[in-house]
Amino acid sequence: RLQHTQWGHSEAQNFRPETSSAKSMMDIGTRRIFSEEHDIFRQNVRRFFQVEVAPYHAEWEKEGQVSREVWEKAGQQGMLAVCIPAEHGGVGGDLLSAAVMWEEQMYVNCTGPGFSLHSDIIMPYISHYGTKSQIERYIPQMTAGKCIGAIAMTEPGAGSDLQGVKTYAKRDGSDWILNGSKIFISNGWMCDLVIVVAVTDLNSQKAAHGISLFLVENGTKGFHKGRKLSKIGLKAQDTAELFFEDVRLPAEALLGEVNKGFYYLMAELPQERLVIADLSVASAEFMFEETKSYVKERKAFGKTIAHLQTVQHKLAEMKTEICVGRAFVDSCLQLHLEKKLDSATASMAKYWASDLQNRVATQCLQLHGGSGYMWEYPIAKAFADARIQTIYGGTNEIMKELIARSIVGGQ
Ligand SMILES: Cc1cc2nc3c(=O)[nH]c(=O)nc-3n(C[C@H](O)[C@H](O)[C@H](O)COP(=O)(O)OP(=O)(O)OC[C@H]3O[C@@H](n4cnc5c(N)ncnc54)[C@H](O)[C@@H]3O)c2cc1C
Repeated sequence: RLQHTQWGHSEAQNFRPETSSAKSMMDIGTRRIFSEEHDIFRQNVRRFFQVEVAPYHAEWEKEGQVSREVWEKAGQQGMLAVCIPAEHGGVGGDLLSAAVMWEEQMYVNCTGPGFSLHSDIIMPYISHYGTKSQIERYIPQMTAGKCIGAIAMTEPGAGSDLQGVKTYAKRDGSDWILNGSKIFISNGWMCDLVIVVAVTDLNSQKAAHGISLFLVENGTKGFHKGRKLSKIGLKAQDTAELFFEDVRLPAEALLGEVNKGFYYLMAELPQERLVIADLSVASAEFMFEETKSYVKERKAFGKTIAHLQTVQHKLAEMKTEICVGRAFVDSCLQLHLEKKLDSATASMAKYWASDLQNRVATQCLQLHGGSGYMWEYPIAKAFADARIQTIYGGTNEIMKELIARSIVGGQ
């Protein structure tokens, strides 16, 4: 059950969304997957993002990272590790409560805090494959926002093809010596703990059989962080390069069994893809509401542009596509809640929803005219942030490969 933290139920019920667009996006009456408890949690989450995140985001965009305080505030208010089991030190809510977090973050258009990555992509690896002592060491600290997590798969020479990973961990007695480098790592600059994908068996017939996962703590000798990378979007997200030079790791740093890393990644990636799909639809919903308000106010040729039939048809098309996307992603959320979401279906959701987000971003920006190109307009930021969604978490081309494989098999 969810632990409602500082805000009790009655206070949460008194809270009302401030903007009409927020209210409309909150119109979850048409969504069938949430309970009343989720709705109450959503109000708490919405207030958290409106009070603790949105007012600071422009400053964080300039700094290329969010503050440590917002992580700790999120922890104090039960906003991290929402669906990690309470017996492991998480909040103990369900997947749909985590989805509330993803959606509300997009509804304030603030992509800086890497909460979903931390809570719903990284923490499950520790919860699912960690030893008792790894779980006790990391999960409570991560739930409190005092230990920020990252996962480092990608390398300069290995992105889509994870089997091309060159980072190597060599046994030395019971220790491991880790060497290599990683690139484009989200939460990479701020992370206190990073799960590193490394080769552990150079002689394996198939690269997939020789990959393991390691838990590397910030401050470990030989672990260096490169610069924060300058990106076209996600301006407040700290994306960094990571370097490992003769990093000595104890046996306890191995996550799960040796040489099983690739299988753990394959097992966990559907949830990562579902997170991206839900973020994508939520962002599309946000952009649509922004644009609806804009066209109802903006005047041209003596009337608001919302009077133009071409504009109305564009809105009608977008609204329809978003509703179709929402229905599919909600069904995937429900399937995943029931542990029935397969890799191909998660890939369909990721690819289709992130493409939708980008189509909606392009059309909504166009409807804003020149203002849409100005950073101070939310649509400009949402447009820039949308672009990465078709690339990370497995590119959409790779998603199609996975879907195709489920149709025709490995040819
Ligand atoms: C902002 C940002 C955050 C990121 N965060 C993380 C993170 O936290 N952790 C992490 O490990 N990685 C992260 N990444 C890396 C991301 O997952 C990779 O960039 C992505 O998987 C693509 O790999 P690549 O960049 O090497 O592109 P490549 O693999 O070189 O692909 C280049 C192009 O070729 C296409 N292509 C490749 N193979 C095929 C194929 N078989 N069939 C058809 N087309 C193909 C791709 O679709 C793409 O269009 C992040 C990236 C960015 C930009």
